[in-house]
Amino acid sequence: MVPRKIPKNILVTGGAGFIGSHLCKRLLDDGNHVICVDNFFTGSKQNILPLIQNTRFELIRHDIAFPLHLEVDQIYNLACPASPIHYQQNPVKTIKMGTVGVLNMLGLAKRCNARILQASTSEVYGDPKEHPQKESYWGHVNPIGLRSCYDEGKRVSESLMMAYHQQNKTDVKIVRIFNTYGPNMAINDGRVISNFIVQALRGEPITIYGDGSQSRSFCYVSDLIEGLILMMNTDHFIGPVNLGNPNETRVVELAKKIIAMIHSSSKVILQPLPQDDPSKRCPDIALAKEKLGWEPRIGLDEGLQKTIDYFKAILESS
Ligand code: NAD
Ligand code: UDP
Repeated sequence: MVPRKIPKNILVTGGAGFIGSHLCKRLLDDGNHVICVDNFFTGSKQNILPLIQNTRFELIRHDIAFPLHLEVDQIYNLACPASPIHYQQNPVKTIKMGTVGVLNMLGLAKRCNARILQASTSEVYGDPKEHPQKESYWGHVNPIGLRSCYDEGKRVSESLMMAYHQQNKTDVKIVRIFNTYGPNMAINDGRVISNFIVQALRGEPITIYGDGSQSRSFCYVSDLIEGLILMMNTDHFIGPVNLGNPNETRVVELAKKIIAMIHSSSKVILQPLPQDDPSKRCPDIALAKEKLGWEPRIGLDEGLQKTIDYFKAILESS
């Protein structure tokens, strides 16, 4: 007889955001109880509207800079603005997410004996000198630049996870997420794929920062969710592990592709490259393959089409 899976009580901080909302849905679909905690800084009720009717779903409006008292088995700590325009809006608050917010969630994990997964980022590699980036690379981050509130915040969040693990035996997991995209990104998110799609659908100029020669590697959200869940439920491996799609694309190629897919009349305009914008980024995912048996399945064309369909529907209904 196949043993019945026991549902878990799972906390998702940042659960009303882009990645968090997909994660909450998937965890509910798997039969778990999900508590979504969000302060709605960049997340939205719209993202979790389809989940509200589910009796195994609870929503708490809360800022994780303040302690939280709950009983849970697992914590996915995603709460943190992720788009440069949003995390630079209140840099002190962004640093608090990587420090005080993570400490609060680690305290909760310690008290409940819960397993905690920290959403870290490829930004811990900064503007990398090693390419593609392996987990063993220590990075090249400007500690006082515009992006440092986020990059250094995430780096210290990894240190905190390791310190709690070493000192208190807290059951921790660290995942370094590379550029991820898909439905439920906010229209005003400001990251490149949502910007280009929304601009192309509206027939507005496509804003390339710099000359567009910089590269990123884009992972569709369902692939990332699979990786997060595999990592959370793997024993004897703390990470950090890279989760991302190793298929690298230049920003200028991305713009051309999106314009062609939408048959848009939009023209490209060049705008100044923001300070410390990494010139390239691509994950080495050998460790994720070895430890989790994970690799992305959705290619860029397929993922972009799903995302275009999503934004088309949103723009038509607004
Ligand atoms: P997002 O901005 O859509 O989601 C973040 C969520 O956290 C939002 O719902 C926001 O309201 C919430 N939040 C922010 N501050 C909070 C606070 N103080 N208390 C409670 N909730 C708070 O971003 P996302 O793309 O879904 O990113 C989710 C996580 O994944 C972040 O930690 C981000 O750093 C990480 N990440 C994302 C990417 C990516 O490409 N999407 C890449 C690397 C890392
Ligand atoms: N970018 C761009 N136009 C935009 C938004 C972003 O050219 O409208 C560029 C940005 O400068 C960066 C890349 O696209 O080189 C990815 O930016 P994003 O903000 O999506 O993510 P990150 O820089 O954090 O990887």
